[in-house]
Amino acid sequence: MNIKELDNKYVLPTYARADVEFVSGKNARLIDSNGKEYIDFTSGIGVVSVGHGNERVSSAICKQVSEITHMSNLYYIAPQARAAQKIVEASGYDMQCFFGNSGAEANEGAIKIARKFGERDGEVKRYKIITLQHSFHGRTITTVKATGQEAMHNYFGPYPDGFVYADNIAHVESLLDDHTCAVMIELVQGEGGVQPQNKEEVQALAKLLMSKNILLIVDEVQTGGYRTGEFLASNLYEIEPDIVTLAKGVGGGVPVGVVMTSLKGILSAGDHGSTFGGNYLSTAAVCEVMDILNEYKKSGELETNTAYFNGELEKFYMANRNLFTSRVGIGMMCGLRTKNAETLTSVINNARENGVMVLKAGKNTLRFLPPLTITKEEIDEGFKALSNAVSSL
Ligand SMILES: *Cc1c(COP(=O)(O)O)cnc(C)c1O
Repeated sequence: MNIKELDNKYVLPTYARADVEFVSGKNARLIDSNGKEYIDFTSGIGVVSVGHGNERVSSAICKQVSEITHMSNLYYIAPQARAAQKIVEASGYDMQCFFGNSGAEANEGAIKIARKFGERDGEVKRYKIITLQHSFHGRTITTVKATGQEAMHNYFGPYPDGFVYADNIAHVESLLDDHTCAVMIELVQGEGGVQPQNKEEVQALAKLLMSKNILLIVDEVQTGGYRTGEFLASNLYEIEPDIVTLAKGVGGGVPVGVVMTSLKGILSAGDHGSTFGGNYLSTAAVCEVMDILNEYKKSGELETNTAYFNGELEKFYMANRNLFTSRVGIGMMCGLRTKNAETLTSVINNARENGVMVLKAGKNTLRFLPPLTITKEEIDEGFKALSNAVSSL
């Protein structure tokens, strides 16, 4: 059986897979099983932030796993402690980290922290968490309920109580009550359509929540790790959240999720845990990815490349106004709104045939999450292929 047949026979069909199998990659270049080359404007949904086949990350992982891969969180783990230091220092916040294995798990941790805070702090038990319409927080039973998309709430109930959806940031205030312990938001909604929040509104919300002793959780699973230009989008928005979650880009491809909080005393031994979370393998990768990204930011290369990518995206947008209605996003988290969903599907399929990978977000957004280390040459090649892809539409 070939891979496609094996997959169809033995893997649950939870993904609508495109008919392509990648076998290797170098930075923003990919090669499929037929030897065809592609430019990757997706980095595997914002994961491979330092590029495919990154030599520094692969040698850091190889060195680590040849010594020790896993023991357990019952003992000290050197790369975990170092990864936490690097993440906290890059954030500029006075926080501590917990390591899990995915974005959803990081958000589960955030919700547990908020619930314990709500239980402990105050006269009545506070348990409500307000999230936004069109948000995305994960696929576990709790994080799917935290996700403000009714279409995702079919079949799997009963769900945990206490999630309330605000239409937008301005609508949050009217939903706060004595039982609210936290508000959880994405500063740029990723899956929802690469939609940035308004900075002044977010700052006003942060201030309001602080005055009411309600926690602000920022889900930076997609925005974190310099995706928006700063280490956290929270840095860019100049706010100080109580809890931040990270995943996708900070592991450079290894599964990792992080919940970090300034509420250092809230969880005690036994309140939370993970068998795999924070093990030697994943946190050795995080350490190297953090070093690479910190250097990349410091040298100015991140800014230069981001500006170049956005310049080329703007040219592509202006040349194809018949297909696209607006350009959205921040930094290397970019989107083009398409006239309709059918156009979007054709663009994505034609792009793949022409050798460039792009993503969908929401109903009608063409999404770009290139590796942050993408080069000028790769950007040029990718937009050339994309222009060819849309020329027939
Ligand atoms: C991808 C994503 C998640 C879920 O992460 P998983 O690793 O798939 O569990 C949660 N929140 C946001 C904002 C995301 O983009």
